[in-house]
Amino acid sequence: MPRRRVGTTGVAAGCRGYAAPVGALSGRVAVVTGGNGGIGFGLAAALLDAGAAVDIWGRDEAKTAAALERLRRPDRPRVTGRRCDVTDEPDVEAAFAGAVAEHGEVHVTVANAGRGGLAPFVDTTLAEWRELVATNLDGVFLTFREAARHMKERHADGRGGGALVAISSIAAIHGAPRHAAYSASKAGLLGLVRSAAVELARYGVRANALLPGWTIIDTHPEMREDPAFVEVTTRRTPARRWATPDDLRQAIVFLADPGATFHTGDTVVVDGGYTIQ
Ligand code: NDP
Repeated sequence: MPRRRVGTTGVAAGCRGYAAPVGALSGRVAVVTGGNGGIGFGLAAALLDAGAAVDIWGRDEAKTAAALERLRRPDRPRVTGRRCDVTDEPDVEAAFAGAVAEHGEVHVTVANAGRGGLAPFVDTTLAEWRELVATNLDGVFLTFREAARHMKERHADGRGGGALVAISSIAAIHGAPRHAAYSASKAGLLGLVRSAAVELARYGVRANALLPGWTIIDTHPEMREDPAFVEVTTRRTPARRWATPDDLRQAIVFLADPGATFHTGDTVVVDGGYTIQ
């Protein structure tokens, strides 16, 4: 059954064919929430390779320390990390202030921290719904709010604005069983991004959403343990495979690139064609 992509037609074309200039993000500083594992780790590595210094956030300090060890290389800019629970307002405020204190300023904020949670719709409790939305939607709101406050100040001082990138999901577009809370949280991000894009454009702040498709991550090998599920999703993907975090490299660098001044309010889908079927 063919499926239509809702509200995103043509938008992914914005970065199609984009080849990041070497050092595209030279001198920039990026925060990546959930940068200590999975997709966030890949995004942090891509930003470092494009020349940005990076500050990764996570709740698990041992995991963050291990990620920092893997990310640090002599040919890369500085990478730092801090503990933060993005659902906790004072935590987010302190973490953002910490990143600014450590790096001087923040030009790019990638709100990637998120969680899954599959449950039959009729069995989903309000507590489960709220817990998921607290991370995937409230967490992005709190992170972006701190970033936008900082970027507005930078703009007022004549130092430019910045770029906000929310990691949504193709679950924001296509329906899937047992995904109601997850899909709602990820679709909510699109509204947040569009509204922020309109309001913050005058301060030089761009806001965009990146929607990955099925992505293999080392942190959740169980996602790949159901051969039937993997086979169905792979067969439905025109590229005939799942993504790896590396498949998001160009898109994240493009969205962070200060040269992409006219690119805001967008939803960039990187899914091997899954949602156009
Ligand atoms: P992971 O579970 O590997 O990564 C989630 C990251 O978020 C971890 O680094 C975790 O760090 C952090 N995190 C979770 N909750 C919090 C919190 N309350 N405060 C701070 N950090 C938190 O999964 P993925 O890499 O797959 O997920 C990353 C993002 O990509 C998510 O938003 C997810 O929805 C999205 N996505 C994933 C897809 C996939 O197929 N994998 C497809 C589409 C979108 P810690 O453990 O230290 O708290």
